[in-house]
Amino acid sequence: MYRSLLVTSMFIVANFVVHPTWSDEPPHSDQASAVKWAIAIHGGASDPAEWNADQQAARRQGLTRALDVGRQMLSDNGAALDVVEAVIRTLEDDPLFNAGRGAVRTQAGRCELDSSIMDGHTRACGAIAGVTTVKNPISLARRVMSNTKHVLLAGKGAEQFAAQQQLELVDPDYFLSAIPAHAAGRGEGYLGTVGCVVRDTHGNLAAGTSTGGTDKKLPGRIGDSPIIGAGTYAANDTCAVSGTGVGEEYIRNSIAYDVAAQIRYAGKTLAQAVNQSMRETLKPNVGGLITVSAGGEIVLQHNTRGMSCGAADSSGRFDIYLQLPDGVMATQTVESAEVVVRRLLEEQLQAWNEGNIERFMHAYWQSPELTFSSGGEVTRGYDATLARYKQRYPDRQTMGKVNFEELEFLPLGVAAMQVQGVWQLQRAEPIGGRFTLVLRKFADGWKIVHDHTSVRNES
Ligand code: ASP
Repeated sequence: MYRSLLVTSMFIVANFVVHPTWSDEPPHSDQASAVKWAIAIHGGASDPAEWNADQQAARRQGLTRALDVGRQMLSDNGAALDVVEAVIRTLEDDPLFNAGRGAVRTQAGRCELDSSIMDGHTRACGAIAGVTTVKNPISLARRVMSNTKHVLLAGKGAEQFAAQQQLELVDPDYFLSAIPAHAAGRGEGYLGTVGCVVRDTHGNLAAGTSTGGTDKKLPGRIGDSPIIGAGTYAANDTCAVSGTGVGEEYIRNSIAYDVAAQIRYAGKTLAQAVNQSMRETLKPNVGGLITVSAGGEIVLQHNTRGMSCGAADSSGRFDIYLQLPDGVMATQTVESAEVVVRRLLEEQLQAWNEGNIERFMHAYWQSPELTFSSGGEVTRGYDATLARYKQRYPDRQTMGKVNFEELEFLPLGVAAMQVQGVWQLQRAEPIGGRFTLVLRKFADGWKIVHDHTSVRNES
């Protein structure tokens, strides 16, 4: 019966090779993601060395809170635009970020806020610039998008529109009183704009950005954040983008649109396009980008010393960073659990067909949590199971050839999967039966934690 277990795994592998529908989808292909939703946020392209440990922790907390708002909405099938607005409102209300409450001052000592939002499905967009009394500029940008025929409103007109729309207005001191750092004035070059890009479960993309602008800017200065195509862009056929950094450079180079255009017209991947914009188009030390593709791939990149940012998706990813290694974090092509598990099985099949039991076992059994049952006997742990297999299958002849049929992949949440199927082993005395595998996703990959095999026609 042990042999049946072994057989099971090999069969699985074999199936890759022979199953007609599988040949359409090679298990080693780099096909993009099957994530249902994905979200990335940023809180400015600052150098984390500017902050002490407590400030860094507070910043991480603020990012975590905002990302969690997005994660919850997206797992409840929330719409991309709603998520972008809600996440950015959370960051605007947090005085640690240079947007909404924590906005930096102009040379005249006031706060002038800019924001924009874009719907990748319709390419509708809205933006506001230079407002001084609107508590949540991202919501005003969305109202411009939805309730006017315009894209960008600035200054007094934007404030009047906010009042008409009955959005919450505050005294300009609301922004000035947020944190002591304001009173002291932050160092030049402080960057703490916020942004959010989303791919929702309906396949729609959206992007938004909100900022107080650059510290000690001239009154009336407007940066890239409210400029569609510079600081914000979203189109379902390409990607959603939000930028942070020296806005003038983002405007000069139409950076957000530049990324999408490379994908649309030059057929680049999101990672290639972002890299081109950040490393070739922009000069060093200018800023960063958060992006998500139509398939849910997330690419984050900065050419500054750091960028406060986070990424989450339906695979269970939830990461916060203040700085990215070499300034880049691209989701490796995201693969569904089924694709990964099928590949494991294929590796195992190859090992079996080479007569290599150790490699066969290593391919997916190497979990200390493994329990293995067959014919009433139970083995616990990798070593004990390996010893059994070696004893049972001393040579290739004993091993025979496996085949696997009727495979069913039944996800158990995002980090576990049940696989069921029928196995057949061709050898001097052919045998077969049904099997059930339970796999769990560990930090180092998917492993089988339980295997049960029944034998149909063992003599
Ligand atoms: N890009 C923003 C601006 O230039 C500033 C920032 O990202 O911190 O207004």
